[in-house]
Amino acid sequence: MPNFPPFTLTPPPPAAAPPGEKLPLAAVALGLLALLVATADADASRARLSLGLALVLLSGGALAWAWLAFGRTEAGWHPHDLWRRASTSRGAVAWVTGIAFTGFYVVLYWFPWLLENLIRALDPFSQNLRHRAADQWFLYGTFYTLAVLVLGGRALWKYRFSRYHLARTASVMFFQLGISFLLPGLLLALQQPEYYFNYFWPLKYDYLFPGTVAQLLHGGGLGVFMVFWGVVMSFLATPVLTYFYGKRWYCAWVCGCGGLAETAGDAYRHLADKSRAAWRWEVRLVYPILGLIVLLTALLWVGASGAVPALGVVTGPLGQFYGFAIGSVFSGVVGVGFYPLLGSRVWCRFGCPMAAYLGLLQKHFSRFRISTNGGQCISCGNCSNVCEMGIDVKQYAQRGEPIVRAACVGCGLCATACPRGVLNLENGPHEGRLAASAFIHADSLRIL
Ligand code: SF4
Ligand code: SF4
Repeated sequence: MPNFPPFTLTPPPPAAAPPGEKLPLAAVALGLLALLVATADADASRARLSLGLALVLLSGGALAWAWLAFGRTEAGWHPHDLWRRASTSRGAVAWVTGIAFTGFYVVLYWFPWLLENLIRALDPFSQNLRHRAADQWFLYGTFYTLAVLVLGGRALWKYRFSRYHLARTASVMFFQLGISFLLPGLLLALQQPEYYFNYFWPLKYDYLFPGTVAQLLHGGGLGVFMVFWGVVMSFLATPVLTYFYGKRWYCAWVCGCGGLAETAGDAYRHLADKSRAAWRWEVRLVYPILGLIVLLTALLWVGASGAVPALGVVTGPLGQFYGFAIGSVFSGVVGVGFYPLLGSRVWCRFGCPMAAYLGLLQKHFSRFRISTNGGQCISCGNCSNVCEMGIDVKQYAQRGEPIVRAACVGCGLCATACPRGVLNLENGPHEGRLAASAFIHADSLRIL
């Protein structure tokens, strides 16, 4: 009897990594081991050595693997079997990765002494950059920046055929390294306030709290400029730039959270829940969070004016709750820790008050839209699959409707993944942006 393959609609499992790719993956595994050794070693000079080795192995291994996996494939968008790999389809590897990420955040926020050896190992680097000893946030900033740079390299190779993706990947890498990491360190070295020029209220909510403003103004000079910058960026530049470009100018080009999502989180973008229930949760959470931070900021200013002296009874606990629940648990533990299970934009979609503010502006007061040429859509679903914000793009495309959604961060992946060129990110005139494209129905055709 001939041995026929079983009749099945399920494709065979993806091939194991080719031998060439196993070497860099082994380097990454060794890097993780060296990181654990550095964490456990109380001897500062040995821990420094282990940490240095870990960072070299992790970065070098990940970059080499990314080049082998993406740099040599034919230029163009590929699905890369993401829904069939345990690491990117909520399989066992994804769970282990998610638990490891979440555990790191829990330790970082609430048990930082467990990282003491790692933090001390970074002292020389911190002294050189900031003229002070390292702390847990410096450790976090170093890891975060390295992740954006190394996995930014992966994104550059993967999307090397698209100038749009090359430019926005380079942009988030620049903002993370230059503006979120080196510049604040330099400011500290110069005895200036540590300030992040690419984070604005309401995301960096305390920047417009009366206490922070008073502290910055007290410092004079640069501090006054920082207050001016914060106010102008939140209330003037944000509406103006969003009017012209939609929220993508910030969420996909400047923001550090968006930068991590677009680089380290790229492999998980398809995991965003596209269901209507998820959209309902999005609306139920993100706008109340924006309302909460607006209310808290307003109450703090009323309290600071002295008009209602007893207001501290409310603002104190409210501020603590917001800092713990939103600032730490949501944006850090859930937002990044759950990447491998819920997708890369959980925080941006469900929790970020800046995204809510930008989204309202984008939906009601912007020139940005994604136009769709419905007549060309073949309903393959690639666009919905890659949407990290859980938008069912295909539904719009099938009807020829433009996509004007508050959630869309303008990453442009839907347009890139579309095999028919149906989708186009545009900054056209505000008027008429909701109009559907001309759609030729089959009934209107006469076949001669
Ligand atoms: S709709 Fe397209 S551009 Fe907008 S977030 Fe989704 S994939 Fe990105
Ligand atoms: S990727 Fe293009 S062709 Fe496929 S469903 Fe989306 S719009 Fe239609």
